[in-house]
Amino acid sequence: MNIVWLQISSLIYMTILLILYYSSKRIVTTETKIFKGIMLANEIGLLIDLSCFYTVSHAKTMPILAAISTRLLLVYYLVYVSLFTIYLFFVVRTNSMQKEKRHKMMKMFLAFVGVAIFIACILPMKYHNSDGAIYSYGISVDFMYYVYSLIIVMWVICIILNFKRIIKKKLLPIIILVVLGTIVGIIQKSYPELLLMTAADTIVTFIMYFTIENPDVKLIQELNIARDRADKANDAKTEFLSSMSHEIRTPLNAIDGFSQLILEEDNINTIKDEAKDIMAASKNLLEIVNGILDISKIEANKLEIVNVEYEPAKIFDEVGKLAKSRIGSKPVMFKEHIAPDLPDYLDGDYTRVKQITLNLLTNAVKYTKDGYVDYSVRCVKQDDVCRLIIMVKDTGIGIKTENIDKLFNKFERFDKENNITIEGTGLGLAITKKLVDLMGGKIIADSRYGVGSIFAVVIDQKIVNKVKQHEVVEKENRTTFDFARVLVVDDNKINLKVASKLLDLYHIKADLVESGFECIEKIKSGTIYNLILMDDMMPQMSGTETFKKLKEIDNFNVPVIALTANAISGMKEKYLNEGFNDYISKPIDKKELERVLNTYLN
Ligand code: ADP
Repeated sequence: MNIVWLQISSLIYMTILLILYYSSKRIVTTETKIFKGIMLANEIGLLIDLSCFYTVSHAKTMPILAAISTRLLLVYYLVYVSLFTIYLFFVVRTNSMQKEKRHKMMKMFLAFVGVAIFIACILPMKYHNSDGAIYSYGISVDFMYYVYSLIIVMWVICIILNFKRIIKKKLLPIIILVVLGTIVGIIQKSYPELLLMTAADTIVTFIMYFTIENPDVKLIQELNIARDRADKANDAKTEFLSSMSHEIRTPLNAIDGFSQLILEEDNINTIKDEAKDIMAASKNLLEIVNGILDISKIEANKLEIVNVEYEPAKIFDEVGKLAKSRIGSKPVMFKEHIAPDLPDYLDGDYTRVKQITLNLLTNAVKYTKDGYVDYSVRCVKQDDVCRLIIMVKDTGIGIKTENIDKLFNKFERFDKENNITIEGTGLGLAITKKLVDLMGGKIIADSRYGVGSIFAVVIDQKIVNKVKQHEVVEKENRTTFDFARVLVVDDNKINLKVASKLLDLYHIKADLVESGFECIEKIKSGTIYNLILMDDMMPQMSGTETFKKLKEIDNFNVPVIALTANAISGMKEKYLNEGFNDYISKPIDKKELERVLNTYLN
């Protein structure tokens, strides 16, 4: 009867443990799910064990129930050790193995256990019931011990192979459990009347609960992981800020320096040269800011592709010229081949196509000290689709094989010690890859360290069947708006000056005001304007609020164009929805301004 008390007390302990387990909030991982299975299996196993004791002692009157319960007990033993095996495998190997390989191994193991359970159920079994000892024996039970021994061998191999990891992950209790399982197995085989196995499983489960599966320990582990992640994110942010402030300060320094020189300079040619340098530096600055914006859009999943009609030859030629101008005085030859059979018009996001190409070319130019940069654009046409193949090859510093896979990660910059003088943010290729993906294309890179690199982008664009137009019209319309009077509203004096100078190019009379209030006053005073350029982000009264007030004025029908430096996607739609006639982003692009002037002043 003592033995029954062992099972009963185990059952009570196990039930308490289950209540404890379910009453505390837990982290859910694959291991904890398997551990839950282990606990439930043990609880059920203990019940089966007790029922075996009863049915076998009354085997004569209930032979079928005795047969069922004893076989169920065999099934339980195999299920328990299998669950423990899977658990062991997961805690020691989880991260280091590929998912598919892990699934394949699991499937093989479960198939093996399934077959073993089936065989154990059909092999013959006998019962012993005398001198107070009740147990089952026979080929079926022996077979179960063989399988059990095989599984123990698997445990030992798993532990030997992963010993370092077990020590590192503080999983020493696992070894104790394996030793305990082996000893209990041997004792049970030698003294079957002891019926130790299920109660021993309870002890194993208990040890697991209070060591590796302890909710507090798990929580602390998870907290540590979360803290490490937060630390890493913080470090990355600090590094990003410091590299960004350096990147932003470099062109700012040029702008500031050259502006001071211009103020002291009388020679008009020198002034023009310096102004060109200022323009190059501000373009560089704009690219950096746009890069940061793009990355934040990628992170918010807001990067969009806007397809419009464009002339590919023109775009690729422009990009080539721009890249070539960035070579400066380096002994680098720029080879360019743009396929003459490119369609006249394509439908796609040309600003992004330009950005992708320029990025690859700028990198090639930046990371090549001498030799050449070879830029080619080819196309393969099928029906109304044109497959663009953009290739950029250089004889630059190259990229180490181990870094090729990391090329498209954001903030990754390699060989920093050799590239200390080369400006960069490590964002270009991450953005490029995302853009290519969004366009449904592919980007590949190959490189030999110290020899050179090659980047290829393949994107499909829709062909627009249209006869090529001549550009004469555009140029004829350009400078003659001397009849027009435009009101520019912006709280920033420099912005007003830039706008006024730009409008001057078209002989437009511009009135400049610094607030929405002044704007309303001007209109109310009866001054007639042909167009209003309205900055949105102004203190006290925003451009949008000013516009609402303007619309309340009787007979107000001047076209109003929204101006903003906030260039996140969806801005154009936002302003058009507000009722603005059009939208221009700052810094004002001359072509954009020309488009707006042609539309509203003609
Ligand atoms: P960055 O602004 O630093 O150039 P990118 O994302 O464009 O950022 O490139 C990431 C890194 O990849 C660069 O810092 C550089 O180490 C490496 N790289 C990119 N293109 C080339 C190239 N053509 N030759 C050599 N290294 C390159």
